[in-house]
Amino acid sequence: MRPIKNTYETYSPKVIKNLGYLINPFLLNFKSERNRLLVFYFHGLYESMKQKQLHHVDPQNNMTTKQFIDFIEYFLHYKYKFIIPKDLSSELKENQSYAMITFDDGYFNNMLAVEILKRYNIPAVFFITTNNVKQNISYWWDIIYKFRVKQGINLETIRNEQRTLKSVKFSAINDYITQNFGIKAFEPWSDIDRPFNEVEVRDLAENPYVSIGNHTHNHSILTCYTRDEIKQELSESSNILFNLTGKYPVSVAFPNGNYNDMVIEVTEEAGFKYAFTTEPKKNPLPAEDTKLIRIDRYHPNTTEIARYGSFFRLGYEPEYLADDLKIKIKSILRRRK
Ligand SMILES: [Zn+2]
Repeated sequence: MRPIKNTYETYSPKVIKNLGYLINPFLLNFKSERNRLLVFYFHGLYESMKQKQLHHVDPQNNMTTKQFIDFIEYFLHYKYKFIIPKDLSSELKENQSYAMITFDDGYFNNMLAVEILKRYNIPAVFFITTNNVKQNISYWWDIIYKFRVKQGINLETIRNEQRTLKSVKFSAINDYITQNFGIKAFEPWSDIDRPFNEVEVRDLAENPYVSIGNHTHNHSILTCYTRDEIKQELSESSNILFNLTGKYPVSVAFPNGNYNDMVIEVTEEAGFKYAFTTEPKKNPLPAEDTKLIRIDRYHPNTTEIARYGSFFRLGYEPEYLADDLKIKIKSILRRRK
């Protein structure tokens, strides 16, 4: 799951987006992305728009397979090479632009992506939340979303509820869900919202286009936890993945992108090589020569992917940029008074 912004989906700064589409191609000419790695984090995929309308998952981070294909074709058209973490330790071609596809959480619907990866002959990383896989339970943000939508609650209220729950530990979230929706709420509704099961993760790991990563055991936002708890969340997940796949993951994606110095320290001590954030930045190549390499990731634009560019590429999401601009203008006006 990704960070929730106040304005998300409630405000669409079209002017800023369109301005980005105009400016960005020129900027890319001057400031090329050669020797850069652009990493993107996806979540769930829908077979079609019809599946989206069933409201079985929170649509915030999800896209259709058609949009995913558009995304891939855009980057292939501009001659980007898709890689996975292990490629970073081998010799990379100079003056080449690179991209990486990652999927967070471990939705079964990611199988739709696997078929597409094979068709285009490109690899991707799948970060798995192991407790959902082990117990075959729905992700908590989807539970909130689907039950509240059914109750007719508006999106902003749902977002607020989800945001509040992101500041507590997984045990408190589980209690909250049980109290509000009952224990049966954890049961997935369909193949759209369910996680992979254990057999599927094992099969997935054997696929030549797939690399498996750690996404903690309980999708824990690690900045809410003690040192020992962070260690536990990472190691429990890695042990389960080892039992299923025969390999310890070398990559971890921090749930919600949250980390601090302690999280980094524990991650490094646990032997991970790559830590994936949700900061929208390009990664310079060759990768930094540190024990734990931090890899920043962009949120893929879920609409108009064929025209992918805009301010996303410069490290801004249009929604964020509009907010930042508003704050700046306000402060300038205040100073002039
Ligand atoms: Zn996640």
